[in-house]
Amino acid sequence: MTTVAAYAAPAAKAPLERTTIERRAVGEFDVLIDIKFAGICHSDIHQVREGWGKAIFPMVPGHEIAGVVSEVGSGVTKYSVGDRVGVGCMVDSCRECDNCAKGLEQYCLKGMIGTYNAVDKDGEPTYGGYSEKIVVDENYVVRIPDGLSLDVAAPLLCAGITTYSPLRHWNAGPGKKVAVVGLGGLGHMGVKIAHALGAEVTVLSQSLRKKDDGLKLGADHYYATSDPETFEELKGSFDLILNTVSAPLDFAAYLSLLRTDGAMVNVGLPEEPVNITLLSVFGNRRSLSSSGIGGIPETQEMLDFCAEHGLGAEIELIRADQVNEAYERVLASDVRYRFVIDTATI
Ligand code: NAP
Ligand code: ZN
Ligand code: ZN
Repeated sequence: MTTVAAYAAPAAKAPLERTTIERRAVGEFDVLIDIKFAGICHSDIHQVREGWGKAIFPMVPGHEIAGVVSEVGSGVTKYSVGDRVGVGCMVDSCRECDNCAKGLEQYCLKGMIGTYNAVDKDGEPTYGGYSEKIVVDENYVVRIPDGLSLDVAAPLLCAGITTYSPLRHWNAGPGKKVAVVGLGGLGHMGVKIAHALGAEVTVLSQSLRKKDDGLKLGADHYYATSDPETFEELKGSFDLILNTVSAPLDFAAYLSLLRTDGAMVNVGLPEEPVNITLLSVFGNRRSLSSSGIGGIPETQEMLDFCAEHGLGAEIELIRADQVNEAYERVLASDVRYRFVIDTATI
């Protein structure tokens, strides 16, 4: 066991504070990672506040981890000391079910093991990336290509894969009109990736406050959803709507923006139930779906794609003691576009 410094919430809704946690000894197939940067995902905030239900405390959030391998177990074949690596939202799964066999470990039929707020196979709670080091089985670690700096790569481990996976699955590409709802951490990566895939990209944001940024990120069009005209003008126009919003929306209004056979895919996970009538999907054979992060092979594919296209996250680097303030800014939609903790300040 190794004792490492971390930032943790001692109880639901409590501010995060500096503490220490124990990491397991490096096992045969484990790598020890010196964490350099950890992104702040809105999911961290939902969980710290128990917005998704009962959680495990103390909680060390963080599932956008970028670092360097500092020790490997005797059976490790994929990584060596000094390799630049990342860890996302899961650190294990059953490895045997149909979904695990297909590389869809995030949909493991026995449940994936979350990077934090979960219980590992050894019965111990998992602790996430707001810490100095982490021990992870090599099969749940990905390689960060040389072309990507670790700070801008960290958010790709969740925000990047969570948008890449549905954009690929629903064939965003040339000739396709894609709308990204919400220009936050996920949304801004959704815009960059959809643009790099060749789709025509529209941002649907609450206001036009971030319009210049959105266009620079790769959007072709930018509309304010606070303006009712937006919904009139864009009726029936999108092949795909990627909803990244952390709060419930008026689903009927957004579904009316889909073309026949279009799909609205929800990656945002609001704490409250959403209200929807099936009449809003019925009209034009529309689909309403969802998507969860991505499997390990697709996460590696996404990192390679981002390196090839020069896509990192737009980040605001913070010290660990600024994390509570950063949470408040995320909740106020005042993030441009991902807070990343410099873990050297823990
Ligand atoms: P974020 O950085 O806070 O971005 C969310 C954006 O949604 C905000 O920037 C804002 O964009 C918009 N928004 C917020 N409140 C709104 C409201 N009341 N009405 C309309 N728009 C609103 O959060 P994030 O880290 O990108 O995460 C977004 C959601 O995805 C969270 O619920 C998170 O838990 C979830 N998530 C899901 C997965 C998955 O696997 N499915 C993975 C990661 C995260 P504008 O200012 O542009 O309007
Ligand atoms: Zn996340
Ligand atoms: Zn499985």
